[in-house]
Formats: sequence, structure tokens, C-alpha cells
Amino acid sequence: MGAGEKWFRLRLPPLLQPRVLKQALRAIFSRPYTTDYPNVPYQPPPGFRGRVRFNADACIGCTACAQVCPPKCIDVLDDTDPDHPTRTLVQHVDACIWCGQCERYCPTGKGIQVTNEYLEIGYRREDFEERVEKELLLCEICGEPLAPVDQLRWLVRRLGPLAFTNPTLMLMAGRDLAVVQPPVKTEGDTVGRADRLRIQCPKCRRATALHA
Ligand code: SF4
Ligand code: SF4
Repeated sequence: MGAGEKWFRLRLPPLLQPRVLKQALRAIFSRPYTTDYPNVPYQPPPGFRGRVRFNADACIGCTACAQVCPPKCIDVLDDTDPDHPTRTLVQHVDACIWCGQCERYCPTGKGIQVTNEYLEIGYRREDFEERVEKELLLCEICGEPLAPVDQLRWLVRRLGPLAFTNPTLMLMAGRDLAVVQPPVKTEGDTVGRADRLRIQCPKCRRATALHA
């Protein structure tokens, strides 16, 4: 650069420098780098991880998603009210880190899914919760929660004839086929040999197998 050219550049205001003018002209005739959001809805790219949603029909309430969730943002709430025992899973969107582990390890593959929803707007804390409720099966001896009914049905379907090696699964399959009626047990009845063929938690099954 000659001394004359250098002097010329130094005298020009910054916005009129040739380099700046060149960039400005290029920007005028090229496409904008920004999007027109929110006037035009944003299209997330493939693989985008947005809000996590339960699929109540595909979820079996097994809690695998809650166990693998790194920030532990899925709560498992068991209500053992004998009239209406339920298991509720609550996912807290505001604590989610969008890792996708829940979807990856869901045994049904569809019970919980990472969607491409990116808008998180709400006015109450419940607006940032995802819930799914499942009927819970209680141990007929001690009343402790055993597993959701849907999980046992799913196991019966997966195991096929092998399910009939387990009394609890066999009884579940029998009830669905309406060939087995739940036994009526009154308060004060002692646990006996006949109770081996009841829906039981592992602890009670061991007790009735060994001692009854
Ligand atoms: S079925 Fe899937 S979504 Fe439902 S509790 Fe199990 S892991 Fe979670
Ligand atoms: S995406 Fe990750 S952090 Fe969010 S609920 Fe699933 S496992 Fe938990």
C-alpha cells in the first residue's frame, strides 16, 4: 500500500471504508441470516430434542424411564388405596436436560418420547408437568404395590406360554380371559397353602411357598 493510498483510507470515515462498503453491498443482495420467527413457525432440524411426552397407551408404568433419568426429574407416586390403587409418573419439564435417555431405555419404545416441541409456555407449575396414570396391582397378602396391571399384561404377551410358569402372570392372563375370578378373602383369614395361587409380591410368595 502506497503512502498516498494509506493517507486516503485514514481520512475516510469508518462506514465509508471500501471494506465496509463491500460487506454492506453483499449483505443487501444476499438472503438474511435470521429467520422470520415468530411470524413463520420454526422448523426444528431432524434429531431435535424438545419436550418429552408420555404416550399413555404405550406406557406400562414400569418406571425404567425414572430410573435412568440423570437429573431424576420423573417422580413415581404409588397410591395403595385398595379401592383405586394407582401409579402416577410425573415428569418435570423444568428439570429436564433433554438427554433422551428415558425414550432410549423405555422397554416398549413408545411409552415416553422426545418430541420436537420447543415452546415452553405456561403460567402454573402444572403446565410444566407430564403425567401418566396406571392401575396398580397390590399383593393380595400384604397389600404392598406389585406392578401396574399393564406391565403384567405386557409381560404375559412377551413371554407367551412361558408366562404360565409364574402364578401371578398366570392369574393375570386368566383374569383377562375371564376364566379366573379373584378370590374373596375376608379379614382375619390366615395364609395357607391355597394362597400360593394368588397374586403376591416376591416376599409373600417366598413366605407362602416355604411356610404355608
Ligand atoms: S413404559 Fe416407558 S414411559 Fe412407561 S414407565 Fe416404563 S419406561 Fe417409562
Ligand atoms: S430427556 Fe433426560 S432428563 Fe428429560 S426426562 Fe428424559 S431422561 Fe430425564
